[in-house]
Amino acid sequence: MDAQPKQKDWINILFLSLTPVIGVVGTALYAWRNGVQWWQPALLFVLFSVVSFSVTAGYHRCFSHKSYTAHPALQAFYLFFGAMALQNSVLKWSADHRDHHRYVDKEWDPYSIRRGGLSAHIFWLFYKEPSERSYDNVPDLSGNRMVVWQYRWSHVIGIVAGLGIPTAIGALFGSPLAGLLWGGFLRIALIHHTTFLVNSVAHLYGTRPYTEENSARDNGLLAFFTNGEGYHNFHHKFPADFRNGVRWWQWDPTKWLIASLHFVGLARDLKATPRAVIEKSRLRMNLAKAEERLVSAPTEIGVAVRLRMERAHHALDRAAALWHEMDERRREMLVRGRLRSSELARSLDSAIREYKSSIGVARREWRQAARMLSKLPEGV
Ligand SMILES: [Zn+2]
Ligand SMILES: [Zn+2]
Repeated sequence: MDAQPKQKDWINILFLSLTPVIGVVGTALYAWRNGVQWWQPALLFVLFSVVSFSVTAGYHRCFSHKSYTAHPALQAFYLFFGAMALQNSVLKWSADHRDHHRYVDKEWDPYSIRRGGLSAHIFWLFYKEPSERSYDNVPDLSGNRMVVWQYRWSHVIGIVAGLGIPTAIGALFGSPLAGLLWGGFLRIALIHHTTFLVNSVAHLYGTRPYTEENSARDNGLLAFFTNGEGYHNFHHKFPADFRNGVRWWQWDPTKWLIASLHFVGLARDLKATPRAVIEKSRLRMNLAKAEERLVSAPTEIGVAVRLRMERAHHALDRAAALWHEMDERRREMLVRGRLRSSELARSLDSAIREYKSSIGVARREWRQAARMLSKLPEGV
């Protein structure tokens, strides 16, 4: 069976072609004739933020990947404002997205990059769903009453609220048309294409520090425009993680938002991959690259580099095992209560110390190996 539906979806084609024209050209013409008042870009910025975070933190990381559990009030917020992105319902978006992760780069990937950058970006939306489309990969969502309600009403919310709210705000400032253009059409076009860039550019340009098993790339520039979703290589390697930009210097405001929601009690059970496991996949990728350079290097350097890489690997294995031990002790302490389990607390402290020192050993060995490699003449 062909995974790419062939019947054209003219409503989608017209909608996706006209919104950027009205949004960009229409807003530019309006601004040229009437000037720009402060509230217009402010309206765009506020609505863009609310709706795009509902897609990245809600549609993507909460509903599609279950990387944390959101309070029902927060779910309702995501469902309502996410619908204003006009990217279909959570149910369909998540079903497509779970297929994308499961069959990435293959025939069944709905926006496979193998069919070309433009196809992955937007053309895949120009075709109708096969009539036998099932939602069997989202049973958790089809059992959620709010999600099912949004499935029925997402288009209505998207059009009525997505265009009506900015028009009403524009009316408050004396120009409903400016509100409609800035907060409606331009905002919709920007949210569409920033989301679409993750499916196209993040599978074409960038680095692959964690895995080369698929086409996904880490792209810092893209992360800046997509609330952190540009760190797509990490995301395809660890899709259940609530973070995409996992390193402290990486721009991932969606992760900061989820952490803040956790702090105020609106998000719980945040899933984070243990640092040792993340470091292990980076090390494995570095090892593969080192092997290429070591092929014709002097034997003693090859042996020394491999030895250091191996020591780093063992230290990370130890750290990963310790992390699981720590996690179990933390759970036990939660059950027993911190005060009544001082012995447990002591053993947890010592496991934490050992964990940190294992990570330190891995880092030292790894750094030494990298230094040795860098001294090899280029092209060796
Ligand atoms: Zn992807
Ligand atoms: Zn994903």
